[in-house]
Amino acid sequence: MTSSKPEYPYSQPSEPGELIEVADRVYWLRMPLPFRLDHINLWVLEEDDGWTIVDTGLATEATTDIWETLYHQMTDKKPIKRIIGTHMHPDHIGLAAWLCRRSGAVLWMSRSEYMHCRILLEDSNREAPDAAIAFYQAAGFNEEQLNYYRSKFGAFGSLIRGMPNSYHRLKDNDGFIVNNRQWRVVMGEGHSPEHACLFCPELELFISGDQLLPTISSNVSVWPIEPTGNPLKAWIDSCHKLKSVLPENTLILPSHGLPFRGAAQRLQKLTDDHERDLQVIYENADTPKRVVDFFPLIFKSKITHTSLVLATGESYAHLNCLIEQGMMVVKKDAEGVNWYQRV
Ligand SMILES: [Zn+2]
Repeated sequence: MTSSKPEYPYSQPSEPGELIEVADRVYWLRMPLPFRLDHINLWVLEEDDGWTIVDTGLATEATTDIWETLYHQMTDKKPIKRIIGTHMHPDHIGLAAWLCRRSGAVLWMSRSEYMHCRILLEDSNREAPDAAIAFYQAAGFNEEQLNYYRSKFGAFGSLIRGMPNSYHRLKDNDGFIVNNRQWRVVMGEGHSPEHACLFCPELELFISGDQLLPTISSNVSVWPIEPTGNPLKAWIDSCHKLKSVLPENTLILPSHGLPFRGAAQRLQKLTDDHERDLQVIYENADTPKRVVDFFPLIFKSKITHTSLVLATGESYAHLNCLIEQGMMVVKKDAEGVNWYQRV
């Protein structure tokens, strides 16, 4: 297969709050994030009779301030018609309820993402459940690491400003019209439960959310709510699916980083890296090891308290994938710790 190097038509990101037209009446809107990953890209589609907003930014004061100004400029002449959430992570969905409430627009989202978000919101009001503690204990967390996890449990709710009480469900392959052009929903999985990407063949545009990013490998994690899940298989399958759907000339509009062309090559690299990690884990599991023992094999940087949960989820994802392939077995010891060994 021929696949050329990724091409970046924009060398510079837009300024926070600035609308940059990347195709006919399709705008790129960057919002700040107070993390090491310091931005998210939102997308705004314009029609004669209103606006469609794709993703909303995190519920911070900085993002709210930018929206305040922009909201007046945008709705001066026409209303917001709909708000689309690619997936339920707080940087994407943070201000959805706030914008919906304010504009009267309906949130469009996949069912799994909407429901999952409502579930996570419930966690704000309770302590870490035993099942979650057991999950991280099984991975090899010590008491100090478990306490850190307990102290952060339920933080999700503070990063988003609630969720609308109803929504419009997006399904794979659904179509909708914006500006007399057909847009199609392409669902992905693995980074989140049912991630909606939006494809407009006529404009050769693909709003990829976190399902396809130019430089970052999206986190693919097993979570305590479904300890035996196999999100890595779902992620790799989704990469193959996107490869088959996207013509090479498609401009990818990702949630993080710069718009780019060259989806096939990027998708290949993403799956190759995971396949390599699976291989490395398998080769090093000649003697029983815990989840945390695999960190140095697949992560370049040192795992700290703040990266611990994601690193654990990602390691679990690779191990569960190998188990489902029949290449790995796991035994729980008397202390509840999982030990993995290759078959
Ligand atoms: Zn995400």
